[in-house]
Amino acid sequence: MENIAFHLGNGSAIWFWEDHWIGKRSLRDSFPSIYRLTVRKDRPINSFFSQSESGLVWDISCCRNLYNWEVAHFAELLDCLSRVTPSQTNPDKIIWTKDKSSQFSVKSLYASLLPSSPPATLASPFIWKYPAPPKYIGFAWLASRNRILTVDNLMKKGMQLANICLCCMGYDESVNHLLVHCPFISQIRQDFFSRFNISGCVPASASSFLAYWHGFKLGKVRSKVWKMAIMAIWWAVWKERNDRCFNNAQASA
Ligand SMILES: [Zn+2]
Repeated sequence: MENIAFHLGNGSAIWFWEDHWIGKRSLRDSFPSIYRLTVRKDRPINSFFSQSESGLVWDISCCRNLYNWEVAHFAELLDCLSRVTPSQTNPDKIIWTKDKSSQFSVKSLYASLLPSSPPATLASPFIWKYPAPPKYIGFAWLASRNRILTVDNLMKKGMQLANICLCCMGYDESVNHLLVHCPFISQIRQDFFSRFNISGCVPASASSFLAYWHGFKLGKVRSKVWKMAIMAIWWAVWKERNDRCFNNAQASA
């Protein structure tokens, strides 16, 4: 499947759950919890949307109401779908990517089976070079782009929720609040700052905060600890937030 590219047209020839038409994996593999619940499987993409006066409407019917943790996955799926627009006239295209002509050939298949060069590194900000686990860095990268599912972002997707930060119970939850301004993370950050004799104001947004953090020059050894720390603090706060949200757990800062 990795040698085949699906270019969405009217959605009649590409299978919604099974084919790799969004991202590098099928929607079935990316959202297994939703796939298990969905009513319709083995159908082309055009079975899952309709055009209304207000625009494109996706219909992913499930066999029962979703639990809280499934709602987050469902919202991620809708976010993926919001980035594509099927054509009303052009047919879908299924392209063999290993040949310039897009036509399948044994020669290009053979070439594709030979060892390939390492994948190109992501053209990404400085945090991708940080000495931290990839899941920490991936989370920070998404957070810096306001792409994590905080309550305000879920509400933008149309979900009806009461917006309250579960870490401080005093303000609305947003990425910038949770990871920069919330009293919960501020306390953790101040404790850490004091070990480095650092004080002062912090920037308003998560993305500018990362740049601010990156700007400190602390020497080779301390710099490694410093870079690891922000990744670990953000990840720990997100994990704590999710524990409070989904498991009613509560830890102290
Ligand atoms: Zn808060």
